[in-house]
Amino acid sequence: MKFSRMFMPTTKETPSDATLVSHQFLIRGGFISQSGAGLYDFLPLGKIVLDKIRAVVKEEMDNTGANEMLCSFVTPMSYWEQSGRNLTMGNELLRFKDRKHGEYVLSPTNEESVVNMVKNRITSYKNLPVNLYHINLKFRDEARPRFGLMRGREFLMKDAYSFHDSAECLQKEFEVMEEAYKRIYTRLGLDFRVVDADSGAIGGSGSKEFHVLANSGEDTIVVCPDCEYGANIEAATRKPNIKEALETVELTKVETPNCKTIEEVSTFLNADSYYSMKAVIKKAIFEESNEVVVFFVRGCDELEETKACNSIGALELEDANDEDIAKAGLVAGYCGIVDLPEGIKVVVDQELKSDNNLVCGANEENYHLTGVDLTSMEDLNFSDLITVQEGDSCSCCGGKLEYTKGIEAGHIFQLGTKYSEAMDAKFLDANGKTQPFVMGCYGVGVSRLVAAVIEQHHDEKGCIWTKETAPFLVDVIVSNAKKDEELDAGMKIYEGLKAAGISTIIDDRKKERFGFKIGDFELIGFPYAIVIGKKLKEGMVEIVDRKTGDKTDVSLEEAVSKLSELLK
Ligand code: ATP
Ligand code: MG
Repeated sequence: MKFSRMFMPTTKETPSDATLVSHQFLIRGGFISQSGAGLYDFLPLGKIVLDKIRAVVKEEMDNTGANEMLCSFVTPMSYWEQSGRNLTMGNELLRFKDRKHGEYVLSPTNEESVVNMVKNRITSYKNLPVNLYHINLKFRDEARPRFGLMRGREFLMKDAYSFHDSAECLQKEFEVMEEAYKRIYTRLGLDFRVVDADSGAIGGSGSKEFHVLANSGEDTIVVCPDCEYGANIEAATRKPNIKEALETVELTKVETPNCKTIEEVSTFLNADSYYSMKAVIKKAIFEESNEVVVFFVRGCDELEETKACNSIGALELEDANDEDIAKAGLVAGYCGIVDLPEGIKVVVDQELKSDNNLVCGANEENYHLTGVDLTSMEDLNFSDLITVQEGDSCSCCGGKLEYTKGIEAGHIFQLGTKYSEAMDAKFLDANGKTQPFVMGCYGVGVSRLVAAVIEQHHDEKGCIWTKETAPFLVDVIVSNAKKDEELDAGMKIYEGLKAAGISTIIDDRKKERFGFKIGDFELIGFPYAIVIGKKLKEGMVEIVDRKTGDKTDVSLEEAVSKLSELLK
């Protein structure tokens, strides 16, 4: 490819909303252009990178024996009614009507499509397992599209769906997918971590996320420095934080004027906040109703919202406002587990199960209770609710857990029979009995990866693409393309590199000066440049390594072989 023929509108302008480096450089480097909120056009360079990533994903998926197919992007609303996700997916699902008033959806994911594809076509266990995937557009009407390609509304995803006759068979495929994903991210040149994850709205149980480690990542990942343990904070667990048990004492109401926070109460009573209960009042949003729910965690712990939400099977949690709290008959700042108003839903963190001497609110302004004994209370609903903190102990090895930031680049789920049951998709097993398919699903954020690569590989001047992602591996820079001898030498190297199978672009622009060309090389981020300039008189050219900035003189004749060696 020649620069003179390529549409590569690089610019010095950084869009004002571009806070992430990847967003800035993808726009400045002429890879993408915004067309609307969360909507991007891929310009030629961006399309090449996207296709390169897509090709790696496809190759690794094909190697596992998965079948590529292609679902329609527009799906009938009836599909979403079959699974019930027309109700649970809320506003992320973009719905519209056609001219005949038929209702449709722009697919945010395709479980329903693929179940319908397989249903009544695979009728026997003999035709299982099968894994079907496509690399296709998705649309999610994200509440806050941001960070360029990182959180778009329209984006490219690889999504695969596997069908099995047993949980054991699914488990095997899940492991095959995990290995394939590891190969994908390794080939793309990414530093990543596989972590335990929450299954979110897709449902099912058992899921793992693949995170590209980067400070700009939206997700907090809990990792153990001493073993392999890693989990998204939404799903992270720890070795229970257990202090010495106290003696059981009588339940007592004490006056605690103006002590609304755990710190205020602990200081006032001169007590360790560990032995207190913190009430977190939330408004839970269910499919057809809203409800105020009280979550109790230890005074020194924080509530993990995703865990809390899952513990009651709500769609989401919102902060309860003063009005919600008053309506529910609760007293903000003094909410406690004893004598709560009738009918209030309560969940208690599981680490409090054996506590027999706790401080909590008395459900009365300016009063707390001491000596609260949970072991004597019946029918309490316990669940894991806490946010794992840095320094907590690893449940696997006891190491001190740490936080790191990650970009979710992939997610694999063991769905089980959730969709096949809801959609009545069944097969005949070896005993002639009808069974719902056991399913898995597996996603890779293909367009998000374009940004993730840059988050991990850049410097202050621009992108530094990895070998598998670079739009071109070598940029042959002809310093002054008006000089025939320079252009001829450049073309010779360019042809030589192409013949050696190395993807190459030549900066043959006559109008642009050398400084501008180097600027584009650095901003766009090709791994290597070969500069044809002043030293050509002595038969020499210069190889520039984009990552290290190292410059090496080589003879014109050696240039191709030297680069082939570097790119091995
Ligand atoms: P997130 O928590 O980031 O919203 P998700 O859990 O909704 O992600 P999945 O439904 O598992 O994501 O989708 C599979 C993959 O698609 C994700 O791992 C991610 O890489 C990518 N992805 C999800 N949402 C977006 C988006 N809005 N823009 C770009 N890529 C996305
Ligand atoms: Mg999402």
